[in-house]
This record gives sequence, C-alpha cells and structure tokens, in this order.
Amino acid sequence: MHLQPVRLFRGYIVNPAAEDRYALYTDGGLAVDANGIILDVGAYHEMRRQHPGAAIIDCSDRLILPGFIDTHTHLPQFGAVALYGKELPEWLNEHIFPAERQFTPEAADTQCPIFFHSLLAFGVTTAAIYCAVRKDSTHVAFQWAERTGIRAIIGKVMMDRNAPDFLLENTSDSLRAGEELCREWHGAANGRLLYAFTPRFAPTCSRALMKGVSDLAGRYGAYIQTHLAENRAEIQWVRDLFPEMRSYTEVYFGVGLLGPKTLLAHAIHVGADERRLLAETQSCLSHCPTSNLFLKSGLMPLRELMNSRLRIGLGSDVGGGPTLSPFEVMRSAIYTHTARRMLHDVDGGDISPATALYLATLGGAAALGLDNKIGSLVRGKEADFVVVNPRRLSPLPTDKWMDLSSDTLLSRMIFLGDDRVVEQTYVRGALCHDRHSNENIGRQR
Ligand SMILES: [Zn+2]
Repeated sequence: MHLQPVRLFRGYIVNPAAEDRYALYTDGGLAVDANGIILDVGAYHEMRRQHPGAAIIDCSDRLILPGFIDTHTHLPQFGAVALYGKELPEWLNEHIFPAERQFTPEAADTQCPIFFHSLLAFGVTTAAIYCAVRKDSTHVAFQWAERTGIRAIIGKVMMDRNAPDFLLENTSDSLRAGEELCREWHGAANGRLLYAFTPRFAPTCSRALMKGVSDLAGRYGAYIQTHLAENRAEIQWVRDLFPEMRSYTEVYFGVGLLGPKTLLAHAIHVGADERRLLAETQSCLSHCPTSNLFLKSGLMPLRELMNSRLRIGLGSDVGGGPTLSPFEVMRSAIYTHTARRMLHDVDGGDISPATALYLATLGGAAALGLDNKIGSLVRGKEADFVVVNPRRLSPLPTDKWMDLSSDTLLSRMIFLGDDRVVEQTYVRGALCHDRHSNENIGRQR
C-alpha cells in the first residue's frame, strides 16, 4: 500500500464527547498519520506547529465531524424501500421476503456497490448490516465492503422456522454457513470488517438455532444482531411461541443471546423488567425512529432507555425505514421523543441536536463496542470522519455561517441536512467518497 505522509485537515471541528457535550475548534486541525490513525486534534495553529511537515488539506470553510454510524440496516431491502401501508408482519410477507429471495450473488454484485456508496455519500462510515439468508450473497457483500472502504459489521440472516419455504434453512446448515462466513470475514481488512451472527428474530428461529448462535458468537468473539419488541402483533406471536417465558427479552436471555456484543433493533415495547435484563447483560440497542414511524410500530422510549444506562445507537433500518440518511434518522429521533413527551409524562427534557449527533456517532460506536476506535476524533482512534459544507444549510445565500453559534449549526445540519451537504467521507484516513467526483452516485440513491 502506498503510504501517505502525515496530513493535517484544517476546518471547523465538532467533536462529540458525551451525551450532552461536544468539543469545538472553530479553526481546528486534525492530524492523521500514514496508517489512518489520528495523531492529534486541536487548534489549527497549534497542530501546525506540532506537525510542521504535514501536508495541509484545507477545509477551513467546512465542518469536520466524526463519521456517522448506522447500527441497523438491511442490504437486500435497499430496492424495496418506501412501500407504505402495512405493518411489520404483512410488510415482511408482501414486500421483504420476496426481495430477499431475489438477493442472489448476481443481484448482490449489482446492489452492493450502490448500497455502500450511498451510505458513504451520506457520511456513514460504519454500518451494521443484515444480508439475506444466502451465504454466497453475504460473501459478495463482504467483498464489496472491503473494496469500497466502508467499515461494516455484516451477517447472513438465519431462519429455520415460520418463514416462506424459499428462505427457510435447516438449523445445522444455517449454523455452519454462519460459522464459515465468520471464520473468513470476522476481523478482515485489518479489523475493518466484522461478523455478526444474525438470527432474524425469535418468531423465525428455533431455540436450537439461537443457542447455537450464542455458542458460535462466544467462540469467535463475533457480534449477534437481531430484532426485539418492534410490533405488537410480533410480540403476541412471540408470546404464543414461548408461553413459558415472561417476556420477549427473556426469550433471548433464556437462549444466551444477550450480552455486550448483542445489538437489538427497535426495543419499542419493553417493560421495566426487560430494561433491567438488558442493562444487566450490557446488551445494546439500535433506535430506528424512521422505521418505527413508517411501519407504524410505535414510539421508542429513548429517554427511559438512556436513563437505564443502556448503550444506544441509531439505525436507518432500510427498508423498514425509507432512507439511509443519518440526518433523517437523527431528526426523527428528536421528533419521536417530542411526540412521546406530548403524549406521556416523560422526564428529562428535549433530545437536543447535540444528543442526536452523539447517538449517531460516539453513542453508536459505544453500542458496537468500538468507541475505543471510532466515534469521535481523538488521538489514537482511527480517522473516520466527514467533511460537511455548511453553506448548503443556509436558507439565504447571504448568511454568514461562521457567525452562527455551533448549536445553531448542528440544528441546521440535523433538520436540513442530506447527502448534498456531505463533501467527503474518510474511513481510517482513506478518502472513500468525494461528492465532486461522485455526483452520479447521489442520483442512484
Ligand atoms: Zn430491521
């Protein structure tokens, strides 16, 4: 690999530090070494003095932020987005299972580059991704993730009951295919690609399958990703299938699926006992507000779950959510919380734009257990970041964005942002998307 010298990116750096706090350098410098590791971040002139030999990359009229993290999305559903009307069970049968059936290796070879480039064009540097059940198509997805430079946690969906014949697997075949993919890809591309065992959800997985997943994930140190308590009919279905269990969360607990490397999407309808169980096992959640509204699933109690000290990231849940846009997901998280506050007595005030940004970056990294590596721009972490053009966020061309407060800039970015504001996306210091040379990709979204 051709090694680049130290590069010093100059720009307006916004750096999430905690749920309600971010650091700011209005004239900042981000020094990145030849391996894509952050050497330093601080005031530009100080960084310039400390790294006199660095190549300067001038983004001084741009924002520099950590890359966005999508903790839950489905690659084969990318072509089946925005099909409005049904709730989860009917939507799966009518739209999603047929789409996943069509996810052959040939289809994957066409869809994967568009999907990954679209994520990168939105400034998403890391994504946790479900494929369909086929092992060969999942293999193709990993190959494309490797090629496009994105950081990804990917898994083949596993289903051994209550699904259409054309997607059903034999339990041991499913476990074997997952293990083979995990052995080949978990930790590949120098740790940029990771494997997640992906039992779809309790209704379509036998106990034997879920227990097998628990064993394999433990053995390989891989992730587990699945869905939890998304839709009321789904929850009733789980109750019918597991009458001896007190809750949906307890079903997963009983088969050993919960733990710090387990990522559960939705968790909308979870009671206090379930929240406690999730917290005790240090399981992580993916909040998917666009999907929760689109499929009429419900309003996730984000504040209560955050107060339960759970690690929570944001997810687009494409195709349940209609877009990969992290901006849309961030503002929907705020709108959802606002709606809950209007309907219920929820403590803790607003979800601020700063908190939404935290959830989409450092919070997401924490949910994936990767906050020692990514999620904020800190010395020693890998340089996953985006360059955003704030001029595109001004309603009037005469606005001087530098005169705005950082809180106003964040608010504008979250409520008005889309892929047009993302100019460059870097993963581990490598330029993976440049809007000016990839204009065509945005139109394929
Ligand atoms: Zn999902």
